[in-house]
Amino acid sequence: MNASVASPATGAQHSPDRPIIGVLALQGDVREHVAALAECGAQPVLVRRASELAAVGALVLPGGESTAISKLLEVFELLEPVRARLREGMPAFGSCAGMILLASEVLDTRPDAKHLSGIDMTVRRNAFGRQVDSFETDLDFAGLTDGPVRAVFIRAPWVERVGAGVEVLATVPSGPAAGRIVAVRQGKVVATSFHPEVTGDLRVHRMFVDLVRAAE
Ligand code: GLN
Repeated sequence: MNASVASPATGAQHSPDRPIIGVLALQGDVREHVAALAECGAQPVLVRRASELAAVGALVLPGGESTAISKLLEVFELLEPVRARLREGMPAFGSCAGMILLASEVLDTRPDAKHLSGIDMTVRRNAFGRQVDSFETDLDFAGLTDGPVRAVFIRAPWVERVGAGVEVLATVPSGPAAGRIVAVRQGKVVATSFHPEVTGDLRVHRMFVDLVRAAE
């Protein structure tokens, strides 16, 4: 295991400056989130079981395949524990597949796929269609200064509906999907259609780690 990954066994120490943040490690780009969180001064911990979830103050849901992660959440008996933590106000951040999992309603998914209802939103899976299946663009992101964020979309979802308590953080600036919502926040839960973990631009992770610090 990567030496920079803390776990209860390797002695993650609670410290308000270096919050212990879990990364759901069932499938997807876990390592990229772990690296980004560590660079932002958090203590990333891999979460594969309920006891590991209980030891973290916040959770990142990585990009990957939302239906596979959904199935594994059930197999690893994490679905209800994660839902319960979200209901209790645990901060969370999901990118791409993680955004899909955090939705309260998902369109174009498998009928047996489960979601976590961390944000009052309807998300359409694989929404961008064949022409622009995967692409990159620069977009303005509410609250982030120092210029636009480079957004990498890989068979990404978009948000079709947000509830009253949900803040839209970013939309697609131009092209066939112009205006589509691709980053949102409801309280302490943040989701992006794209993958800030793969660009080396740490501003989104930094914003999330600051949010976790403020919540502790
Ligand atoms: N298309 C994937 C899904 O449905 C998400 C893609 C991603 O996370 N890059 O889960």
